[in-house]
Amino acid sequence: MILSIRTKLTLAFAFVAFVLILLTAFLANTFLESHFRQYIIEKQEQRNEEFVSLIRQQYIDKGSWRIDTIENIGVSALEQGLIIKVTDSSGKTIWDATVHNSGLCRQMIEHMIKNMVSRYPGWKGQYTIDEYPLWVDFEEVGKVEIGYYGPFYYDDSDLYFIKTLNTTLIWVAIIALLISVFIGAYLSRRLSVPITKASETAQRIAKGDYSQRSKVNTSTKEIRELITAVNDLAETLENQEHLRKRLTADVSHELRTPLTTLQSHLEAMIDGIWQPTAERLKSCYDEIIRISKMVNDLHFLAEVEGESHKLNKTNFDLYELTSNIVLNFQSQFKNKNVGIVLEGSRQELYADKDKISQVIINLVSNGLKYTPSGGLVKACVTGDKKTVKLIIQDNGEGISEEDVPNIFERFYRADKSRNRLTGGSGIGLAIVKAIVEVHHGSVEVESTVGVGTRFTVSLPRQ
Ligand code: ADP
Repeated sequence: MILSIRTKLTLAFAFVAFVLILLTAFLANTFLESHFRQYIIEKQEQRNEEFVSLIRQQYIDKGSWRIDTIENIGVSALEQGLIIKVTDSSGKTIWDATVHNSGLCRQMIEHMIKNMVSRYPGWKGQYTIDEYPLWVDFEEVGKVEIGYYGPFYYDDSDLYFIKTLNTTLIWVAIIALLISVFIGAYLSRRLSVPITKASETAQRIAKGDYSQRSKVNTSTKEIRELITAVNDLAETLENQEHLRKRLTADVSHELRTPLTTLQSHLEAMIDGIWQPTAERLKSCYDEIIRISKMVNDLHFLAEVEGESHKLNKTNFDLYELTSNIVLNFQSQFKNKNVGIVLEGSRQELYADKDKISQVIINLVSNGLKYTPSGGLVKACVTGDKKTVKLIIQDNGEGISEEDVPNIFERFYRADKSRNRLTGGSGIGLAIVKAIVEVHHGSVEVESTVGVGTRFTVSLPRQ
């Protein structure tokens, strides 16, 4: 059976309260049965002793008694349920309650039976007589027989006490039950409302509305974490959706121009308007190579952005890696008459070597691309205890201030017309940034038009 958290908590509170009340009532009554019964027996014993002592004091001398006072004591005892008979040493009756008022005696015993049966239906008590010898100056002057309904009995005030206690317990039970249901309902409301809202938000997100966020304020740690998780999920999905839309738009936009050019060139050649000269075919081929490079770059970028957990990390020396790449670029630099130098020292790094190679290649090739003949590109590898730095600096054309914040965006080119000629697709730096970020590093750029550009990549050593 699926129940709401509210119903479950309220029921749980009520159940706990109910069990506690039952336990209290059971313990209270058990206590009453043993301790209160003992107390009553002791109280009755004490009362008997007191009557015996009072009667003993009524002995005057040489077998004479204050009979009037004994009668008063006897009547008072009778009113309390004790049937007293006093005899002297020879066994002669001095005073007997049954003789004095047999009707009242019977009435008292019936009253006691009624009291006990009302408390314990089926109670089996019987009339009991205790004997107490009366001693005066070491001489037994007589004896008192006290008859009562035994082994013990509750008088009206005892029964009233038990009844009041049970009524109080019932009231405590009702109030405790009400309070627990109220607290249970209040607490479960406080828990269930934010959970329900978070779940509603999650359902709307599941239906594709990624702009949804849960704004519930709660002091419950787990619920707060749940809401944050739902909101983070929505944010991630929104970003992914945004990226997906932008990528589709960018790709179609970037591919449209070269494909249209290719299409019109090939149509012209098929229709016989253009002769398919080697030069024209080479131009078409170059365009295809460019499109193919762009597609490959995009594929690589998607891989880096989407597979952050699949880094193949190893320990390697960044200086050595940079040195090898610089060596491979040497002839291209020579051809363009641009100088390349490497500075710095050995730096151990734990990272994905292939992806870091791509970072160095992209930055060095940009240095070559955007530095005119006669310029210089400097690579430098340094580091401290925690971080390793790779700096690629050139004295080329530089990047204008308004372009600097955008150059890491995919397909962004500072000077589109010229960059198209250099074959740049505008993805190289986006790849650099994505790779550095999956390694939890950062990349910064400082540039001045006409002076040069400096890229600084910082990577955590581990
Ligand atoms: P591209 O393939 O166009 O070079 P990138 O993402 O590598 O794409 O670079 C984006 C843009 O940033 C380039 O088009 C260029 O305008 C600018 N840029 C990158 N590196 C440099 C540099 N070293 N000097 C000047 N401009 C640069």
